[in-house]
Amino acid sequence: MQPMPEDWTRAVAVVAHPDDLEYGVASAVARWTGQGKQVAYLLATRGEAGIAGLHPDQVGPLRAAEERRSAAVVGVREVEFLDHRDGLVEYGVPLRRDLAAVFRRLQPEVIITMSFDLTWGDSGMVNHADHRAVGLAVLDAVRDAANPWVFTDAGPAWGGASEVYVAGVADPTHFVDVTDTADRCPELTPYRMLIAERLADGIMTAHVFNRALDPEFPATLSRATITGLLRGELGFDGPVVTDDLRMRAIEQHWGLEAAAVRALAAGADILLIANDRLPDGGSAAQAVLTKIRTRLLSGRLDPEVVEAALARVRALKARLGDG
Ligand SMILES: [Zn+2]
Repeated sequence: MQPMPEDWTRAVAVVAHPDDLEYGVASAVARWTGQGKQVAYLLATRGEAGIAGLHPDQVGPLRAAEERRSAAVVGVREVEFLDHRDGLVEYGVPLRRDLAAVFRRLQPEVIITMSFDLTWGDSGMVNHADHRAVGLAVLDAVRDAANPWVFTDAGPAWGGASEVYVAGVADPTHFVDVTDTADRCPELTPYRMLIAERLADGIMTAHVFNRALDPEFPATLSRATITGLLRGELGFDGPVVTDDLRMRAIEQHWGLEAAAVRALAAGADILLIANDRLPDGGSAAQAVLTKIRTRLLSGRLDPEVVEAALARVRALKARLGDG
């Protein structure tokens, strides 16, 4: 992988939903705005169909406001919504036209969007239909924006967008190092608030790597992050769930079973395996259980770690009335 070039001044980041950019891209955006670059956010929807139990009329304004605040934290003032329908975004000429019109008006040199692959990684979950529609339309709208003979009523053509970057793909080619620009204070504020108000029933780790937090392991496998920062410094005593241990960055680099044992030892309580079927037809969960038993028997995994995990899961179940 190579570092993403930074010899540009204007970018637009385009995604389907409020929160899509907060899964990683925003950290890079903070670095860029810190360099004086201009970044605008463009969202196809307001995410109004995204919260079970809350009506879209309430959720749309709430999530749009959240997105504006999140953008402000990383130095982004321009946040636009195309108001396509959340959950029902269609790839097609109307979406391409809306995107091209914004590209022509904002004249970005760089455009950033999110994975529009069918699945997250080879064995991961199916990627949201809206993500697939928006990502593909972004690629096409960059070309549309540059063609003066299409969408002639959507402003003068803009052919200056020379790079499109797609975040969250299985085989990335570029990276942005945010170790020195990531600011602990705003990033940890939501954790401090939710933990203090006892609103965090559980916390999911990510397989992100920050050498300032742990020079060796990504958060999901990091004792410094889960036990040190989350439980020690932030005082969280609820269950910690890993992100999918079969994601390529984890499974290929560490091995599924070794990663599972390491996550437990780091302080995780629930190990997430999104796709149980291994390439040889076996069960990933069974393979992990076998490994955990072996390590316990050989004394290489502390049984107290497993006991503590079980106790936290039981406490959560009791709290949720399923004990
Ligand atoms: Zn989304």
